[in-house]
Amino acid sequence: MSRTLIRCIRQYSQLQPDRFNALISQGLIEPIEAAESRLQPLGNLTYACKDNIVTKNSDTTDTAASHALYNYKSPFEATVVKLLAQAGATCIGKANLDEFGMGSANRNSYFGPVRNPFAPGTVPGGSSGGSGAAVAIPKDDGDVSGGGGGGGSGSAICDFALGTDTGGSVRLPGAYCNVFGFKPTYGRVSRWGVIAYAQTLDTVGVLARDVNTVRKVFDVLDLHDAKDPTSLPDDVRHTIEMEMETTTQRGKREKLVIGVPLQFIIKGLTPQVRQVWEDVLNRFVEMGHEIKTVSIASICKSLPAYYTLATSEAASNLARFDGTRYGYTARTPNANDHPMELIFENRTKSLGDEVQKRIILGNYTLSSDSAAYYMKANQVREKLTRELSSFFRNEHPLLKDGDSKQSDEKLCDLLIAPTAMSAPPTVEEYESSDKENILSGYINDVFTVPASLAGLPTISVPFNGVGIQLMGQFGDDRFVLDAAEMIK
Ligand code: GLN
Repeated sequence: MSRTLIRCIRQYSQLQPDRFNALISQGLIEPIEAAESRLQPLGNLTYACKDNIVTKNSDTTDTAASHALYNYKSPFEATVVKLLAQAGATCIGKANLDEFGMGSANRNSYFGPVRNPFAPGTVPGGSSGGSGAAVAIPKDDGDVSGGGGGGGSGSAICDFALGTDTGGSVRLPGAYCNVFGFKPTYGRVSRWGVIAYAQTLDTVGVLARDVNTVRKVFDVLDLHDAKDPTSLPDDVRHTIEMEMETTTQRGKREKLVIGVPLQFIIKGLTPQVRQVWEDVLNRFVEMGHEIKTVSIASICKSLPAYYTLATSEAASNLARFDGTRYGYTARTPNANDHPMELIFENRTKSLGDEVQKRIILGNYTLSSDSAAYYMKANQVREKLTRELSSFFRNEHPLLKDGDSKQSDEKLCDLLIAPTAMSAPPTVEEYESSDKENILSGYINDVFTVPASLAGLPTISVPFNGVGIQLMGQFGDDRFVLDAAEMIK
């Protein structure tokens, strides 16, 4: 990218007041110069990086939207940030989020809530609400015409955004902000430099207004990283490619079979979401594809399993934020201090209510009397993973599906479901239902957590103001992106 363009972007981003509180910090991370522009597939693109993905730049923050890290500066940068700079992309700032990724409406940030540009007065979805708001086209700027995601760059803050998705946090803001939100297969994109919430579920994802941008960014990030112990090794990636190639060669992908899991047809769905879901199914039928209902029983148990596992992992990961080495400290310790007292004070004062609630829940689950719950949740996860996999025509590269595959007439290429129960609720609606029942914020995740537990590639496609998810077999990311492009 030319120096002049970089200067223009700098001026532009400094001139723009952040109307939606989408960014925690504005600051440029410039692309690395390359000898040839063809080596920079993302040249000229700008992006916002969720503030739980670390950067190494004097202007940008690394807060995870927590008071505990309000002044923290990472000494290193995340692999994904480095890869994007090498590919020519310019980071314009760090996106707001729910503290440590915990939430579904971006109301849990130390830096204040994010407003939804697409639907003023509503919540933007969470936890990557700032990432969603940064790529959304503001309603008062026109061009919010539903089907296919809106196109055009309008006056959105940037071209794409990085988010993290542990249980839906890229897909839900995608749905609520009327953009695409893609959660890749677990392990395809490096987590090195991502501040952990629940490490067996955390996945870096991409939000953008068109599938092509999502694909270009994913192509850059889809690499093995030796620094991330859960990064898929090259031989597994190779097996995936071979399997996908065979499936395509068999001509199986001309006429697709799209499965509608019965367990997602629930009472809470609003008439609008039901209608849009039906409209999308009709589009597939018009294109000559086949729709069939499938019954995947374990889906019903995924929400309690997710919140048991995610809070347990969070309790353990967040133990490091004790204010004794970095981040927020309540005061300078004095000689008579009992170390635990200071740690208690630091954590009580610097971690938000939702985070404290989840640490308590997680530590309860991990304590010896209730460890059985953790084991049980893991069993549910394993069963769900196998059951979901058995419905896909192609093989899971890490499981031997063999005998457990469903009979031929039940096999699918993709599964489809709404991303959320409704279009984005207003702030008042969200807060009052939260007050009524502290679990209502969790219930909405019922559509997104199954794919998280099974690590499946899933994209939320914006269609007439509602998000619809397409889920593929483990590793079948590119096919999921191709299918998303068909919905117009
Ligand atoms: N809403 C879910 C939670 O709070 C998902 C969050 C996420 O994916 N980071 O755990």
